[in-house]
Amino acid sequence: MGLEAYKGVYVFAQQVDNVLSGIAFELLGKAKDLAKDLSTDVTAVLIGSGVKDLADQLAEYGADKVIVVDDPELKEYRTEPYTHALASVINEYKPEIMLVGATAIGRDLGPRVSARVKTGLTADCTVLEIGDFPLNPVPGKENEQKHNQLLMTRPAFGGNTIATIACPDNRPQMATVRPGVMQKIDPIKGAKANVVEYNPGFTPNDKYVEILNVVKAVKETEDIMEAKILVSGGRGVGSAENFKMLQDLADVIGGTVSCSRAVVENGWKPVDLQVGQTGKTVRPNVYFAIGISGAIQHVAGMEEADIIIAINKDEDAPIFDVADYGVVGDLHKVVPALTEALKAEMT
Ligand code: FAD
Repeated sequence: MGLEAYKGVYVFAQQVDNVLSGIAFELLGKAKDLAKDLSTDVTAVLIGSGVKDLADQLAEYGADKVIVVDDPELKEYRTEPYTHALASVINEYKPEIMLVGATAIGRDLGPRVSARVKTGLTADCTVLEIGDFPLNPVPGKENEQKHNQLLMTRPAFGGNTIATIACPDNRPQMATVRPGVMQKIDPIKGAKANVVEYNPGFTPNDKYVEILNVVKAVKETEDIMEAKILVSGGRGVGSAENFKMLQDLADVIGGTVSCSRAVVENGWKPVDLQVGQTGKTVRPNVYFAIGISGAIQHVAGMEEADIIIAINKDEDAPIFDVADYGVVGDLHKVVPALTEALKAEMT
C-alpha cells in the first residue's frame, strides 16, 4: 500500500488507573501544530478498561477524534495486550504520524509497536516539525527530496550533537517525547471529539506476564516538573548540608529545590530532583541556577524556563549564555543576602 494512504497525526493517550497522564495533553498540543502544517486532524488513541469517559478531556486538549480500545485485559499496562491494541489501531486506521510519551510505559510500548507495524521510531525527541528531507539534497538530486516529512530532532552521542532524523520510506513516522518537552494548549472547555470504539479482540493470556500485586511507590520528593519556581543547586553548592541555604531561599519565594546531576552523583540529593537530559525537563516561570556550570546536558532540561537567574563565581561559566539575569559571585554570600533581601521585601 502506498504511503499516501496514511493520514492524520495520532497520539497515544497514556492513562494510569483511569487518570490521563500529563504527557497525553502535551503530545496533543504538539500534534495540533503538526496537523495544522499537514492540513489534517489529530486523533488520540485511548487504551484501557472503562476509559471511554476520558475522551472529553482529550477533546478539550486538542483531539478531533478519539479511538477507544476498551477491554478488561487492558486494565493495567502489560506489554503484550497494549502492543496488540496500538499496533491493531495503526494497521486499521493508518496514521501518518504516531506520537508516544517517553515514559516508562511509552518506552516499553513504542519500540515494540514500531517493530510490529514495521516502521522506524526516533526516541526522546526534543523538537518535532514538518519539513523537507533530506534537509540539504545532493546537487542534481533535488527532485528526490521528499516534502511534508516529520523531522525528528534529538540529542545524540551523549548530548554532544543534535541529530535530525526522518522516516521517509515507512509509515507511520513514530517518535517518543519525554514529559515536559512539549506544551499543552489551554483547554477548550466543552470541546467534543468524534469518539470511535475499536476492539481488535483479546484472548485472556497470562502466558507472558501475570500481575499478582501492584505496590505503589510513595513519593518523598516534590514534583519539580510542576513547580513554578525552582531553586536549583549544582556541585558548586559544596555539600548536602549547604543545600539548606537553597531551601531557605525556596521557602521565602514559594519555590522548590532541584539540582544538577553532579549533585545526585555526590549523593547530596535524590535523582527525582535532577534536571537535565537524563533527569527531568522543567519549564518553571523562574529557574535559579546556583553553582551550576551550564553543561549542555543540564541546559537541555531547563532552557525553556521563562526566566533564568544564574549565580556563579566564574564569569565565563556557560550558564550565563542562557541566563536572563546573572550574578558573578560566591554563592555562600550571594544566596543568604538574596534570601534576606527577599524576606524583607515580602514582610
Ligand atoms: P560543575 O560542572 O562542576 O559546575 C559547578 C559550578 O559551580 C562551576 O561553574 C563553578 O564555577 C561553580 N561554583 C563553584 N563554587 C562556587 C561558589 N562558591 N559560588 C558560586 N559558584 C561556584 N547533568 C545534569 O545536570 N543533568 C543531566 O540530566 C545530565 N545528563 C547527562 C547525560 C550524559 C550522557 C552525560 C555525559 C552527562 C550528563 N550530565 C548531566 C552531566 C553534565 O555533563 C555535567 O557534568 C553536570 O551538569 C555538571 O554539574 P554542575 O554544573 O553541578 O557541576
